[in-house]
Amino acid sequence: MSIVTNLENLHLEIPQTVQLVCVSKFHPDEALMEAYQTGERIFGESRVQEMTGKYERLPKDIEWHFIGHLQKNKIKNIAPFVHLIHGVDSFELLSEINKQALKTDRVISCLLQIHIAKEDTKFGFSEDEIIEMLEEGIWKSFHNIKICGLMGMATFTDDKEQVSREFTTLHQLFSKIKNKYFSAESTFKEISMGMSDDFHQAIDAGSTMVRVGSLIFGSRVV
Ligand SMILES: *Cc1c(COP(=O)(O)O)cnc(C)c1O
Repeated sequence: MSIVTNLENLHLEIPQTVQLVCVSKFHPDEALMEAYQTGERIFGESRVQEMTGKYERLPKDIEWHFIGHLQKNKIKNIAPFVHLIHGVDSFELLSEINKQALKTDRVISCLLQIHIAKEDTKFGFSEDEIIEMLEEGIWKSFHNIKICGLMGMATFTDDKEQVSREFTTLHQLFSKIKNKYFSAESTFKEISMGMSDDFHQAIDAGSTMVRVGSLIFGSRVV
């Protein structure tokens, strides 16, 4: 199957209201350009160096989403151009993104990552931790970041019910946080959940943004 066909098929299954992030990590520029030629403009990468290289070489109207685990000392490399950082998993990281965004005179959109999976290998805030941070309120003084919603990854399992429950939990937490800490018109409106294997369940549970890699570009070599 070609990238073009994969994208055609995928778009038949994703409602227009849900954004598709084409996860292009570990794939070469040519693969991204194939997707670009069909109209895709949103690409997700999980390594700073790889994303920066692709940003420099590829068309400037691409929106680069950082979806990996971000190290504080590397924020400065992506701060000048990143469109959305999906995996903000600590107050310290949020604070540092704000600092680097200020240096480059930008406001950077961020999603707070929530740990919804059973595995402890996945990063993210627990429900208690995120509520604590939001209650404390220092984030409100960060004028160079915009908190646009939540992001989560479900457990890697064949148990579709469990995956659905985890996504539903994330949606409920999203609503709770939105009601309590953000106004209805605020930028807090995205729930980034769903990958190649579970985007159907994620969309059913209220995802606004799916991050799909292997279904578009094939399996990764690394
Ligand atoms: C790699 C990755 C994806 C895409 O995974 P696929 O299973 O290839 O669709 C989505 N989200 C994150 C955070 C990833 O690291």
